[in-house]
Amino acid sequence: MSSAPAKTNLLGLTQAELQAFVERMGEKPFRARQLMKWLYHRNVSDFDEMTDLAKSFRAKLKEVAEVRVPRILRTQVSADGTRKWLLAVESPEPQPPAPSPQPSFQAIEMVFIPEPDRGTLCISSQVGCAMDCTFCATAQQGFNRNLTTAEIVGQVWLANRELGFKPGARVITNIVFMGMGEPLANYRNVVPAAEIFMDDLGFDISRRRVTVSTSGLVPQMRRLAAETNCALAVSLHAPNDALRDELVPINRKHPIAELLDACWHYVEKQNARSITFEYVMLDGINDQPEHAYELVRLLKGKPAKLNLIPFNPFPQTRYRRSTPAAIERFRDILNSHGVIATTRRTRGDDIDAACGQLVGRVTNRTTVRLGSKLIGVAVQS
Ligand code: SAH
Repeated sequence: MSSAPAKTNLLGLTQAELQAFVERMGEKPFRARQLMKWLYHRNVSDFDEMTDLAKSFRAKLKEVAEVRVPRILRTQVSADGTRKWLLAVESPEPQPPAPSPQPSFQAIEMVFIPEPDRGTLCISSQVGCAMDCTFCATAQQGFNRNLTTAEIVGQVWLANRELGFKPGARVITNIVFMGMGEPLANYRNVVPAAEIFMDDLGFDISRRRVTVSTSGLVPQMRRLAAETNCALAVSLHAPNDALRDELVPINRKHPIAELLDACWHYVEKQNARSITFEYVMLDGINDQPEHAYELVRLLKGKPAKLNLIPFNPFPQTRYRRSTPAAIERFRDILNSHGVIATTRRTRGDDIDAACGQLVGRVTNRTTVRLGSKLIGVAVQS
C-alpha cells in the first residue's frame, strides 16, 4: 500500500526555495512573491482566497502544497497580558503501531509578551532540549526532536492570527528563539526560519529584532556569523569555567574563553552593536559580589550587555531565586564598573510562561543529553 505523497508545507520555504518550487510547477518566479504576500503580509492560508492567482494554479497548489501550522492545545493569558500557547506538532514520520497507545504528537510552547513599545514573540526550536542546563525546566523533559522550518515559521504565523492580525499593523515586533530548545543545535531549520522572519516579503522584521539565543555552541555561532545577520544572545550564567561547567554543561566542550572569542567575532563580522548575555540569578550560587567582579573582568570594554534574569522556579528544582537586594547589588557593581546590566522583568510567571519554565509535552524522548557525555549527537547542522 502506498499513500499519497506528502504535500509541501509552504511555510517551510524561503523565498528562493518557494521560487524554485513554483518554477517546478511550470509557473513564473513572481508567483512566489505573490504567494509570500498572501502568506505573510495578509496572513491568508486558504489558496481559494488568493484571488490574484489563476484558478488553475490554485487548483494545482491544492494538490501539492499546504499551509499547515501547529495545532493549539491550550491558551493561557497572564494577569500582565502575557500569553502562552501549548502547541501540538505532529510527528513527521508515521508512528509504528505501538502496543500501548502513544500520542502521535509532541507539544511545544510559545509565549507573547506585550510591552508598551513592542510585542515580543518567544518561539521554540526543538521538542525538549538536550543541553541539560541544571536550572532549566525544559532540560528536565529531555530531547525528542528538532522542529522543522515550517513548524518554526508556523508558530509566528499562528501567533499573528491569534493576536488578531490586521494588514499593515504590527503586533509582533520582535522574535526571540528563547522558547524550548537550543536553536543552534537545529541550525539547518532555524537559519531558514530566521531568513523568512527578516525577508521583506516574509514577516519583514528588522535584523536587530530577530534574536537567536544560544547556550554556547561555538562552531555554529561562527557559522551563523558568516551566514546570517540576526541578533545573538548568549546564555552565560557564570563568570568562570568551574561554575559554568556545572550550570551549562556544554561549557565543558566550549569553555568561556572560546565562547567569548566567538562572540566578539560575531559582533565584528556582523557589524552588530553588541551581544546580549543572559545571566540567571541563582541564590547563593552565582549572585555574589565576587561573581560580579569576575564578570567585570571578562566584559569590561567589550560590546556586551548583561541581562540579569531572576531565576524562575519549577517543581523539584534545587535552586532558589536571588533576593531583590542581591540582584540590585550585583547590577550596581556591574554598572558602576562600566558593564551595562539590566534586570529582566519577570513576565507571565502566574501561567509558568517565564524564562526557563516552558515544558510542553515531550513523550517518546530519546533522552539524548549532553550533561554526562558531551557527545554531539543531538546537534545537527
Ligand atoms: N537554549 C537557548 C534558548 C533558551 S533561551 C539558550 O540557552 O540560550 C531561555 C533563556 O532562559 C536562557 O538564557 C536560559 O538559560 C534561561 N533560563 C532557563 N531556565 C531558566 C529559569 N528557570 N529561570 C530563568 N531563566 C532561565
